[in-house]
Amino acid sequence: MRIGNTDGGFVVAHPDGGWVAVDTLGVRARDTAEVIAQGDAIAAALRDAPPGADVDLRCPVVRPGKVLAIGLNYMDHIRETGARAPERPVLFAKFPNALNDPYGDVVLDPALTEQGDYEAELAVIIGAHTRRVTVSQALASVYGYAVANDVSARDWQTRDMQLARSKSFDTFCPLGPWITTADEVPDPQELAIRSWVNGEARQDSSTKEMLYGVAELIEFFARGMTLEPGDVILTGTPHGVGFAMDPPRFLAPGDVVRCEVEGLGVIENRMVGPHS
Ligand code: MG
Repeated sequence: MRIGNTDGGFVVAHPDGGWVAVDTLGVRARDTAEVIAQGDAIAAALRDAPPGADVDLRCPVVRPGKVLAIGLNYMDHIRETGARAPERPVLFAKFPNALNDPYGDVVLDPALTEQGDYEAELAVIIGAHTRRVTVSQALASVYGYAVANDVSARDWQTRDMQLARSKSFDTFCPLGPWITTADEVPDPQELAIRSWVNGEARQDSSTKEMLYGVAELIEFFARGMTLEPGDVILTGTPHGVGFAMDPPRFLAPGDVVRCEVEGLGVIENRMVGPHS
């Protein structure tokens, strides 16, 4: 299934086309965790529903408990930054205020940052209460996958002692365009991942380049913290980010960033100034 969100509530993609509002299927869901809890009911009711309509998609992740993210998790990105491969996953938080729509504007305030940058990422949406799970069991905790852009203020990333602020400005986490449920993604480590800035190809890699795959990340985090339905893990970005170029190429208002993960759709976001 593909689960989307609109101003009028959650929607599900009909196999014959268009989007069907889940409330017309008899499902009441105010946030993503409630959609996940009623996934079987949505799938069953969808079988008898007529095709749906076009909608304006909003961020499909609503009120997550946490948005976890990983730094330096693609071997090609580690090489371009000149860093050493970390001995364990480098965890940071992106706070939920940063979540943005799949086609929403990203606010780059020049008074705040002059080094905005993009990071195309595979986003994992957790589907079950998960604590202390083995690597071989970990993918059973995944509800679905989506495309994200881990927008980053590189000046604050280097100025601060940690990454949370530089990655959590409002609008800095476009995500979508919908959640594709895990049953439609046979192997999350075999997906092409790409980004473009103003139509120019910048990132072109594969999730097989991940140092720690989705299952290993879930096992690592769930050792000490319970993962809950609706939680998000951003799994890192491949090579081709702006700050690693020579000279660095940062984003400016007017730039349009497009991110794609194979089979999961495309998100596209325009950079805007603070008052546009
Ligand atoms: Mg990232």
